[in-house]
Amino acid sequence: MLDPEQSHHLRDVLRLEMGEQVILSDNSGYDYTARIMSLDGPVICRIEGRARGASEMCVAVTVYQAVIKGDHFDYAVQKMVETGAAAIVPYLAQRCVRRPKNPEKFVERAQRIALEAAKQCERSVTPPVGPICDFSEVLEQIRNGFTIFAYEREDRRTLRSLLSAGCPERAALIVGPEGGFAPEETEALLEAGAHAVSLGPRILRSETAAPYVLAQIDYACCTE
Ligand code: SAH
Repeated sequence: MLDPEQSHHLRDVLRLEMGEQVILSDNSGYDYTARIMSLDGPVICRIEGRARGASEMCVAVTVYQAVIKGDHFDYAVQKMVETGAAAIVPYLAQRCVRRPKNPEKFVERAQRIALEAAKQCERSVTPPVGPICDFSEVLEQIRNGFTIFAYEREDRRTLRSLLSAGCPERAALIVGPEGGFAPEETEALLEAGAHAVSLGPRILRSETAAPYVLAQIDYACCTE
């Protein structure tokens, strides 16, 4: 039995009919093929099969995205979900101009956008968003893993050369705010073992950086 929101989506938005087949997911990483048995009130489906979701990227990337202005963060979340991020962690860097007064509300909104985006792009898992971290928590969390640090002042190492040694199973990606990283932050990230990479000769907006990196990782590691 589907919840009221899902029932509404199937019946009134997708206008599905009795007996039609649908693919359901419960955020477990599995997809279920199911058949619609009732459309009166809550939609009832009969599950007919279960398979590992094929929509997840082969590298599980957690993006640490600095909080950015206006609706740019919303846009970043939507595009990161579409391009395959496994999780999104908003964080506050020194140069963040925007500091949400109500962090819970900020995260709730981002999570809702992630859910909508995951449905729209047919992912079997909705990437979790949040809570908002400060920079020291980011350093703590990345300490023992493989971390890609999108650094606008790096001019030598590219993502291609970093991944030429092989693709990790999971990675963290750090993206800075509109004003970039403060020197102390750059130093602390390098000290924590993050690999600084250039995303090329153009300076991208903060919201463009993560989708760009995710697409490149997908190309380099997950396609034949
Ligand atoms: N105002 C800064 C640029 C910030 S761009 C400056 O002029 O130096 C916002 C973030 O996007 C950066 O902190 C970085 O994480 C990422 N980014 C954008 N363009 C990039 C590039 N060419 N290489 C690496 N990272 C980049």
